[in-house]
Amino acid sequence: MPGLAPYAAFEAQSRGRRFDEPPARYRSEYQRDRDRIIHSTAFRRLVYKTQVFVNHEGDLYRTRLTHSLEVSQIGRSVASALALNEPLTEAICLAHDLGHTPFGHAGQDELNDCMQEFGGFEHNLQSLRVVDELEAKYADFPGLNLMFETREGILKHCSKANARELGDVGERFLKREKPGLEAQIADLSDAIAYNNHDVDDGLRSGLLSIEQLRNQALFADALQEVQERYPGLEDRRLIYETIRRMIGTVVTDLVENTKANIDAAGPASIDDVRKAGRTLVALSPEVTEQHVSLKRFLHQHLYSHEKKLEMTRRAQTIVRELFDFYIVDPGRLPQEFAARAVGEESAIQARVVADYIAGMTDRYAISEHERLLC
Ligand code: MG
Repeated sequence: MPGLAPYAAFEAQSRGRRFDEPPARYRSEYQRDRDRIIHSTAFRRLVYKTQVFVNHEGDLYRTRLTHSLEVSQIGRSVASALALNEPLTEAICLAHDLGHTPFGHAGQDELNDCMQEFGGFEHNLQSLRVVDELEAKYADFPGLNLMFETREGILKHCSKANARELGDVGERFLKREKPGLEAQIADLSDAIAYNNHDVDDGLRSGLLSIEQLRNQALFADALQEVQERYPGLEDRRLIYETIRRMIGTVVTDLVENTKANIDAAGPASIDDVRKAGRTLVALSPEVTEQHVSLKRFLHQHLYSHEKKLEMTRRAQTIVRELFDFYIVDPGRLPQEFAARAVGEESAIQARVVADYIAGMTDRYAISEHERLLC
């Protein structure tokens, strides 16, 4: 691709797909990955999966789908500003939450508890499982058969034991290498997106107030700028103008600080990036501190809010009871899942049950729980 930095991901040097395929006629290979992700069933389900607020709590809150789109927009801007591979960044961002359970982190943590004896459950690993195995669409291969670099980016973290089982994408965790810059961008874009949109949703829901956020430098500085420029602006627009400035500050810092890191490390190729010994895509120390402080604030005041905890407890009960129901008799799973589970050893059965539950949307999990267990 013309105009890419030498340390970007180049398709010609890619480690390719697991199953060989003829090249696409009009698209690059990473564009093709992006398109496969958007056409996947798991991607469509994200619209009914919780980001922070359960889908039915309100029509205007972020869902996993709109979160993924916001991550992707941030990632694309940063990738193009740094002359990196934008379609690859976009593909990783859009796929990063495909393995998420219903009910956000409450669902993931409960499913992980249910799976303790059977190797646990981790949504990040599950995202890879979705694109490598669970999507059943193509006649010639399981999953979406994505490019190595897309899969490498989806697998953000991984234990050594899992890494050994995962083959090519697991290797870097054993060698202590970093992924390409596009994957590093997708990772930070996720955190930038949720930090900002959760402030917006938190204010919209009334669980957070502008007053509380005044202690947060990122919010307070942007708010002050808006109030000085537009005195008397009503809250809705005030909040939006503040948040767009917060995103602007963090994204600009990310581009500039990453440029400086790249200049200092001087990588000549994606392999140099992988062997750089540290993550080159990073915020400056000052903005990191503000960003982490906001993240902590959200944990304390939004994600652990009493109103949220009620939902968390309900989600845990639903996930636990569905798991217990199917693990006793996997024959009651829908037919394509039952076929993979019946007669198999218990670890395989448990994994199939986890795949099924992880794939549920919030409202499907709620209605199945009601139908089967209430
Ligand atoms: Mg995410």
